[in-house]
Amino acid sequence: MDQSKIDALRSQPVQPVSHLIDGRQVAASDGAMLDVLSPIDGCVLTRIARGTAADMEAAIASARAAFEDRRWAGQPPAARKKVLTKWAELIEAHALELAVLGVRDNGTEINMALKAEPGSAAATIRYYAEALDKLYGEIAPTAGDVLGLIHKDPVGVVGAIIPWNFPLMIGAWKLGPALAMGNSVVLKPAETASLSLMRVAELALEAGLPPGVLNVITGEGAVVGETLGLSMDVDVLVFTGSGQTGRRLLDYSARSNMKRVYLELGGKSPNIVFADAPDLAEAAKVTAAGIFRNSGQVCVAGSRLLVEASIHDRFVQEVVRAAEAMQVGDPLRLETQIGAINSEAQLKQNLTFVATAQQEGGQIVTGGQRILSETGGYYMAPTIVTDVTPEATLAQQEVFGPVLAVTPFKTEDDAVRIANSTVYGLAGAVWTSGLSRAHRMVQRVRTGVMHVNTYGGADGTVPLGGVGQSGNGSDKSLHAIEKYINLKTAWIKL
Ligand code: ADP
Repeated sequence: MDQSKIDALRSQPVQPVSHLIDGRQVAASDGAMLDVLSPIDGCVLTRIARGTAADMEAAIASARAAFEDRRWAGQPPAARKKVLTKWAELIEAHALELAVLGVRDNGTEINMALKAEPGSAAATIRYYAEALDKLYGEIAPTAGDVLGLIHKDPVGVVGAIIPWNFPLMIGAWKLGPALAMGNSVVLKPAETASLSLMRVAELALEAGLPPGVLNVITGEGAVVGETLGLSMDVDVLVFTGSGQTGRRLLDYSARSNMKRVYLELGGKSPNIVFADAPDLAEAAKVTAAGIFRNSGQVCVAGSRLLVEASIHDRFVQEVVRAAEAMQVGDPLRLETQIGAINSEAQLKQNLTFVATAQQEGGQIVTGGQRILSETGGYYMAPTIVTDVTPEATLAQQEVFGPVLAVTPFKTEDDAVRIANSTVYGLAGAVWTSGLSRAHRMVQRVRTGVMHVNTYGGADGTVPLGGVGQSGNGSDKSLHAIEKYINLKTAWIKL
């Protein structure tokens, strides 16, 4: 990758963004706009439409009309496949432009953004495009005088609410299977990461997705997100974000049409290192990357390091060394390993967590403070806190920032007990040379994804979903499709 190409793109002005309704760009009904601040320097990057309830209702009506006249669901699978494949190609063709735009909006380091954003979004959409004409209905094993057919019908209108950390990757996890199965979608990106998703939605139209099948409304969650959640005309709501908002969505559903709600929420994922780990130096490096990449703004981040007491000091020292070697700074420089925090508010929240950890007896062994304030941007040093008890706030609550909580353990049972002592269950890891121990830990740690002798990197072929208050349902893999279909039985008397 060439730095000069990135520099050329970063200096281009970003046009203000309107909603996308019925294939057209539409301003907010009252004309209101929101400023978008770039986390790189804190300056106004552009403005986005500040959606109203009326805007959201118009988008839902458009999606409903598109679904009812079957302009998309009624197309042969091969035709839908062609459109989605073309869309994936267009995303790839615009990958650098999309990645740079996204980074200017949300602050993720460019190397990570290139891989995890347009790259992964295109791969996900292609995966579901390829899958959609290989999914068969079923014939039930009934008596011979009847025929039981099981159809996989689209659910209708899907509402998708997306967070700011990886808008394209997570957006594609929802859009890929939802659109592949013939649904219409109303998408609500996060206030602080709408730009690249909006551009990707425009590319969908260019690829031939009929107008109205994908509508995008920008603005505040509490306004347009709530209208989407309370709609009587949305059949399924899919969400990635905070537990607090997830809880609200369940409430919206209960108060409206009892729409299905699928949540991918936070985590406090345990990264468990035994003294018999095959390569402690490698484990330390991956541990640092597992929490600090994208400034810890990753739902599956390994935010709790549980380390066997006998190697605690030595191992922590290695992780500190790895963390201090990571270059924090301008996310659009190729040498940067950790970019900016998404917003000033998020940075303040991270610092409050650190202060609370100290009050509760935690020791900061590196980081703990805001850095590079002279840039005007939002940067924080990778932070490691030791002596964190399993009950401490830092061990129990998700920070969503570059803060690692370290807790020692003595035995395997001890490790399992501490690992399972939060309300979450999203990801985790175990580092050990013991095959039996590795399998035991996979079985015993309550989580959606458990890594062994690595952290992160699971690809689109495997599901990602949480247990407990980390959510329900899965993104990725063929399993994700279940969220976007209804099983419909035809019982036929012969
Ligand atoms: P995060 O902590 O990652 O910002 P949020 O849950 O606040 O998590 O945000 C994730 C998404 O949820 C964003 O698109 C945001 O606009 C949306 N959102 C926030 N509040 C609400 C709400 N009350 N109803 C619906 N959506 C909301």
